Amino acid sequence: MLTHKSDGAIMPERVETSNCYRWLIESITDYAILMLDPTGRIASWNRGAEQILGYTAGEIIGQHCSCFYTAEDVARGVPEHMLHEALTKGSATDERWHVRKDGTRFWSMCDITLVFDDVGELQGFAKVMRDATKRKQIEEEQQKFIALVENSSDFTGMATLQGKPFYINQAGQKLVGLESQAEIHATTIFDYCAPEAREQLRDICLPALGKNGYWEGESLFRHFKTGAFINVYIKAFIVKDSQSGEPLCIATITHDITERKRMHDALKKSEQRLKALFDNALDAILLVDDEARYVDANPAACELLGYSREELQQLSIWDVTPPSNSNQGIDLWRDFLAAGKMSGEHTLRRKDGTLIGVECNSVANVLPGLHMTINRDTDERKRVEQQLRQAQKMEAVGRLAGGVAHDFNNLLTAITGYSDLMLRRLGEEDSLRSNVEEIRKAASRATALTRQLLAFSRKQMQQLKILNLNSIVSELDKMLQRLIGEDIQLTTTLDPQLGQTKADAGQIEQVIMNLVVNARDAVSMGGKITIETANVYLNNEYVQSHLGARAGRYVMLAVSDTGAGMDDETKSHIFEPFFTTKEAGKGTGLGLATVYGIVKQSNGYISVESEVGQGTAFKVYLPRVDEAAEPLTLSSLAPEKPARRRTETVLLAEDEEVVRNLTRQVLEMNGYKVLEAANGGAALMLCEEHKGPIHLLITDVVMPEMSGRKLAERLSAVRPNMRVLYMSGYTDEAIIRHGVLDEGTEFIQKPFTPESLAHKINELLGASHRESPAPK
Ligand code: ADP
Ligand code: MG
Repeated sequence: MLTHKSDGAIMPERVETSNCYRWLIESITDYAILMLDPTGRIASWNRGAEQILGYTAGEIIGQHCSCFYTAEDVARGVPEHMLHEALTKGSATDERWHVRKDGTRFWSMCDITLVFDDVGELQGFAKVMRDATKRKQIEEEQQKFIALVENSSDFTGMATLQGKPFYINQAGQKLVGLESQAEIHATTIFDYCAPEAREQLRDICLPALGKNGYWEGESLFRHFKTGAFINVYIKAFIVKDSQSGEPLCIATITHDITERKRMHDALKKSEQRLKALFDNALDAILLVDDEARYVDANPAACELLGYSREELQQLSIWDVTPPSNSNQGIDLWRDFLAAGKMSGEHTLRRKDGTLIGVECNSVANVLPGLHMTINRDTDERKRVEQQLRQAQKMEAVGRLAGGVAHDFNNLLTAITGYSDLMLRRLGEEDSLRSNVEEIRKAASRATALTRQLLAFSRKQMQQLKILNLNSIVSELDKMLQRLIGEDIQLTTTLDPQLGQTKADAGQIEQVIMNLVVNARDAVSMGGKITIETANVYLNNEYVQSHLGARAGRYVMLAVSDTGAGMDDETKSHIFEPFFTTKEAGKGTGLGLATVYGIVKQSNGYISVESEVGQGTAFKVYLPRVDEAAEPLTLSSLAPEKPARRRTETVLLAEDEEVVRNLTRQVLEMNGYKVLEAANGGAALMLCEEHKGPIHLLITDVVMPEMSGRKLAERLSAVRPNMRVLYMSGYTDEAIIRHGVLDEGTEFIQKPFTPESLAHKINELLGASHRESPAPK
């Protein structure tokens, strides 16, 4: 039985005499020690209990022990449960929140033991309680930290000072592909590194940890299962004992930066791509700030403006705006900022002061406060457009000239021919003679003009031969000297290695003469003219900037002079027929047109460089061929042999009546027997009817119904020995292919003079011609 004492302490009867125990228990203040009767009511209460729970013994004795449990625990029957556990097990231990008298809580650790009397009967329970709130708080703090680490998305781990990991959080395990504590324990920190990062760990990271207790930096991990590389940023530090300062372990927080790095690399690559575009753009790209100051410039911009990038970064738009435009420029700048973009043509001033036209496209705020202007050199574009227009113009004028020349040829043949015939009949003293002579002179001037027009329109008949330009220049040298007179020095610089070209010698001769005559007209006394030859390769770069030029191997003929030179305006017209700057009567304006036509017809290219007061250089490029040159005869140098009287029979086919009549008269005058036909059909009939031999067929090329070529073919079949002479005012597809006469085809260009026709026939039939027998 338990006895209540007046002071509130309750003691088992057996020990009530034992003052010693009583005082001992009384004096303990850290522990609340109380006795409960078998129903759980409080029977004794020590000083410790009073201090910890706040009740005096008088207040609490007799109360049920549930009074210092929390309401929730009471509701859940925790007090009874505890007693029950002690009853069944002999003792019970528990930790939980208890409530003091003033309602505050404390964390109580309690032990409940059964108390028996001497005969073994249950006396009640001894309950010992301790306030462990502080420890509980520390534990809770720790729990929070552990939860933090465990749930951190960074690899967080700890390893021994020897580098053996003993803790790695969830995220860490996932990052490197570890699945269990056993796996973690089987590794060392070196196993986490990619092979290339191990040296860094050994030589940099660990020594730094040893020295400073701290290291951070980028490194490379490797996934244990997939082997994939993982870019990481590591922060590692030494954990020390808080009291002694002794190092305990290594802790690391490691952040996966693979994605960040990938994005960074991608960004860098895209930046590099943009830079490559910027650097290699053909257009000048400039970045300017709000004050129109240059922030950056690409190489094309530097080249366009003539400044280095660094120089431009010290300048603004106003420094490259010509002063005359600056007021207007400021307005434009304002408009541009307001509108957000602008395009137009402007003039810029380069570093050397020269002005340059550009087509400009600007966009405001490509980046905040940064504006972009893209400039394209329009001078260059305009130059190319100009070249193209020039070429088209020459083409059109060429067609016109060719057409006119063709029709003129027939007329001039008649005028010249009849004048000549008339002159033969008129006596020396005849009063009409001088009139006819004037007609004849005018006609021959007109013939010369027509011939040049024909050359310009590239319709002149070509007799192509493999030529060496050096031989032609050498042959002409003396004649050219005479042509230019003694006051002007002519130098020839011929490349002894010069290659061959395939061209018409007579045409090339004409090219040289026309160029030299122009040079002579341009230089004053004491000037110099140089003729030069060289092998030249025209490369793509040259071709791109010279419209009409084609890349390849060429032989070049240059005629340069130290004369007056030309301005750009003159230069742009010189190849046009009838363009001349010379006074009336001096220039025809056909010299260079002829040169141009011949060079084009020969698949060549002509360039001109000229500055006012500095002289002029014409360069003619003719395609180089590898064949050997053929012997050369130049028409202007060949002596004319007098024609012989003939008696042969000639079949004449010509649809143009004036020309036919004239030709017949000329032939008859020279002794030939003439069979005359106005077209191919008539010619065939005549040929069939004529029983005697026919030595020569003279036929116009272009005739209605049957072409001259067809006629010649038909007749040659029946009279194989008959020779054929074509006449035409025009090179024509019917007798030429690609502007070249077929081998063995004889041709006389209209207009011809009676002499030249007689000569041609004489040459053709020769002294030793064989008679062409009549068909059987
Ligand atoms: P022309 O000589 O009859 O005037 P061209 O066709 O030969 O006709 O030349 C056309 C124009 O080109 C000349 O009137 C002259 O203005 C210019 N020219 C040609 N060659 C030269 C040169 N070597 N130096 C200066 N100007 C030249
Ligand atoms: Mg001339």
